[in-house]
This record gives sequence, structure tokens and C-alpha cells, in this order.
Amino acid sequence: MKQNKAIIITIGDELLMGQTIDTNSAWMAKQLQTCGIAVVKRIAVGDDPHMIREALDDAIPNCELVLITGGLGPTADDITKPLLCEYFGGKLVLDETVLQMVSAIFEKRNLPLLERNRAQASVPDTCKVLLNQRGTAPGMQFEKEGTTIIAMPGVPYEMMGIMEDAILPRIKQKNAHTTILHKHIVTIGMGESFLADKIADIENELPSHIKLAYLPHFRIVKLRLTGTSLDAATLEMEMGKFQQQLAERLKEVVIALDDVPLEQLVKNIFLNQKKTLALAESCTGGYIGHTLTQLPGASEYFQGGIICYTNQVKTSVLGIPGTLLETQGPVSEAVALQMAIQVRQLLNSDYGLGITGWLSPSPQQAPSETGTVWIAVSHDVHTIAQKYHFHYDRIRNKEIAVQMALSLLLKHINGKES
Ligand code: ATP
Ligand code: MG
Repeated sequence: MKQNKAIIITIGDELLMGQTIDTNSAWMAKQLQTCGIAVVKRIAVGDDPHMIREALDDAIPNCELVLITGGLGPTADDITKPLLCEYFGGKLVLDETVLQMVSAIFEKRNLPLLERNRAQASVPDTCKVLLNQRGTAPGMQFEKEGTTIIAMPGVPYEMMGIMEDAILPRIKQKNAHTTILHKHIVTIGMGESFLADKIADIENELPSHIKLAYLPHFRIVKLRLTGTSLDAATLEMEMGKFQQQLAERLKEVVIALDDVPLEQLVKNIFLNQKKTLALAESCTGGYIGHTLTQLPGASEYFQGGIICYTNQVKTSVLGIPGTLLETQGPVSEAVALQMAIQVRQLLNSDYGLGITGWLSPSPQQAPSETGTVWIAVSHDVHTIAQKYHFHYDRIRNKEIAVQMALSLLLKHINGKES
């Protein structure tokens, strides 16, 4: 019943006050998952001995692994170590190896070794020490009732070091016979409940060792199949079959079968087809360019962009006639199309993308127009434009506008392939 289950306990008042966001748990859970261990519970407690004891009492009977982070430092608010010492019985003893490592850190930084730092080399004699190559507080491993309990420092970089050096390799070796596979179907433009309706019969047919999760992010919904089995080859086949079935059923809205960001998909397809891209960004203010250049090697297809935020720049740099802006309005199909066409010619690229919209209310526009965005893509003589309406605040509308621009680009290129 405990087998392949883990519980994470994060310790620190700052976690409960919302000052520090608990990224440790998310990272640890993800790592454990890839090793065949499911996190069945996550508990955050303050620097409170009673609460920590209670969390341990609750966790140990229910899993084979308890991971704890936080409160191992040298200051008075760090109470985890003495508490664990007491909880698992035993006394604190000096560990020579840890003392050498701690001393070396202080020597290297040219700092005196304070008594409270020396104390970091003292560990309960009931634990196995897990060396910390990245800081002064060592990890500690205890055993109780068939459960392994491991305490690590709260600093994410140090915790990750101990996990990677001492914990994950061992779990992976132990669980080497279990295979966990993920497969994805990335969709855009259809809400999760509509997707669920459309694929209900396929979902019902999934065997118990294959689970389907819906992961929505704005207008993108990622479907993730997760399968666990002792037989890797059969699992791969089964999962491939379900992924194909789902992709076929949802073909109008599927944009990828890989779990990669849109900008990576755009990069892949542009490099594949040896095409180049230029942007004319108004409402997104360069955000699309920023997103594309987050990936190395973007210069191989992304020529550059013009941030034509005002009408004046749309006219003077892109050559969009003032009369068009006046008669149609700056947020219009005609202007988006002209932006895409002009920037493609100006920067001499294969594709041009233009985007213009009202992201939040302003006096220049009617209230009903708030959230309206026009996106156009131009390629030779083929040009498309699409109107969108977003209902969030300015920042979120901007995020979605970027996503939609990238996916329109993908659709346009993919459409031309067929
Ligand atoms: P140190 O030796 O640095 O004092 P520690 O084990 O005492 O380590 P804490 O004092 O609890 O750890 O936390 C140190 C820092 O690590 C915190 O200020 C916080 O920024 C970060 N941290 C702690 N717990 C978490 C967590 N669960 N997720 C993300 N960051 C965390
Ligand atoms: Mg601390």
C-alpha cells in the first residue's frame, strides 16, 4: 500500500505567508514521477514543532518515501534538524566529512567559521548523511516503519543537487523495471469540456494503466496520456494507438503531438521549410519577437520586427496610408493585412505577420471593442487575417494574443503543406 508512493513536506513560515512560493514540491514531484513514484500528498507547515511532528505522523504510514525541505540552516528559526533528531531518537554528533566541506566553503569565501556554522556539521546519529555539494546544510536520511524519510535544505538549488546526486539515481535503479510514458496532443481554440465531449468514447476505452489529463492554458488545451507498465514495448504501442485516435478525432484543433512551446513549433517548421519571418507588432509591443528569441538559433529564420505602436509609425515606417487608418481604424482587417504585407516586403522575408488590437479600454475606442485583436499573415500572394476577441485584463490579453499569433502562423504554414 505504501509502495511507489511519496509524500512531500515543505517547512517554513514564509511558505504559509505566501512570501516564498513552494517551487520545491513541484520540482520534486515531477522528478519522482519520471522514476515511477507518485506523490500522493503535499503538506506545507510552518516552523512549528507540533505541526512538523503531526505531518510526519500522518505521512509515514502512507508512503514509502517522505521528502522534507526547509529549516536546516544555521539560524534560530531553522528547527528541522533538532526536531528530526528527537523524532527519530538519537543525539547530534559531529560528522567529520561534513565539517571539512563546511570549513572549505568558509575558507574559500575568506570568512571565519562561526560556531553556528560548525554546528551544521552535527547530524543525528540515527541518520545517513547525504552530502550537499552546493551549500552548508547536509541532507539527512532516516528510516522508520519501512519508510525512508529524507530532509534537505530549503534553497532550491541545494535541494536539487542532493536529489540529483543521492536520491534520484537510487530510485531510478530500484524502479528500473517500471516504464512510465507520456504522450501529448496539443489543441487550440476548443474549451476542455467540448474536447471531453468529443472524445468521451475513446476516453472510456482507456485501460486503467493509461490516464488522460486535460491541461488548459488560455486557449491551448494539452491532452496528456500517461501510461505505466512493466512492458515498455507494448505500452509504447498502446499509447501510440490512443494518441493517433485522439489526434484524428480532434484534427481541426490539433496543432502538435509534442509537448513543446509554440515558439519551438514555429522554429521547427520554419527551419524545416527553410522560410523566414518578419513581424509588425502593434498591441503586443515586441512580445512576439521576444518570445521567438527566447530560443537559441532564432536568427536562422526570424529576420526581425517593427514595433509600430502609433499610427504615425505605421505610416512613416510601414507605409500604411493615413487614409486607411482613418477610414478603417487602426484595429481593422485592412490595417493588419497591410502590416503583414508591408513588413514582409520591407524586411525581405517569406512570411510577414501583422498584429493590431485594443487590449484594454481606452478613450479612442468603443467599450465593446476592448479585447479585439486582428492578426494577419502574408506569404507571397496568400494572405489571411483573423479577428479575435479576448475577455481578460490587459496583460493576459497580451499573452493570449501572442499565442494566437503563433498558432495562426502555424496553421497558415501547415495549411499550405496539404
Ligand atoms: P539555509 O541553510 O539556506 O538556511 P534552510 O534549509 O534553512 O536552508 P530555509 O531557511 O527554510 O532553508 O529556506 C531557505 C530559502 O530557500 C528560503 O528563503 C526560500 O527562498 C527558499 N525556499 C525554502 N523552501 C522553499 C520551497 N518549498 N520552495 C521554494 N523555495 C524555498
Ligand atoms: Mg534557513
